[in-house]
Amino acid sequence: MIRFIDTEDYANVIHGIATSVWFQGCEARCRGCHNPELIPFFCQEPVDIETAKRELLVNSYRNGTASFLGGEPLLHREELLSLLLYSKSIGLTTALWTGFELDDVDHEILQLLDYIKVGRYERNKKIKGTFYGSSNQRMYRLVDGRVESEVHDMNI
Ligand code: SF4
Repeated sequence: MIRFIDTEDYANVIHGIATSVWFQGCEARCRGCHNPELIPFFCQEPVDIETAKRELLVNSYRNGTASFLGGEPLLHREELLSLLLYSKSIGLTTALWTGFELDDVDHEILQLLDYIKVGRYERNKKIKGTFYGSSNQRMYRLVDGRVESEVHDMNI
């Protein structure tokens, strides 16, 4: 279930501007969760997938990246897969923010991603100035579903 779409996201992106799709529903229960309103698997007015695709397309002239966040995008696999396939078909860079570890993500998803942030949020390891909230988390650049390099800061 998609909760909302940010059509001008400067924060959750590696380069430039992203169209960001936020999923509703997560089971991780991280202490200090920064998006507690996205934990329940319910919202009043979810965004339908065709609307999400339309937003990705109409903003693609400016936004080179499609970012997927939550909540936990991987618990919405069917919608996520469809949006990743669509994003790649219109030439967007794709990025996923997940609380799961890299080994938990299946290859079909990984092959459609250019970047992935992995790891649960740990409040006692909180950090600022990077793509994630705690120092145990990692951001990787992927090529053909495999890790090419780790991404450390926002100025690469
Ligand atoms: S994975 Fe993200 S949304 Fe889920 S509980 Fe942890 S911080 Fe909150």
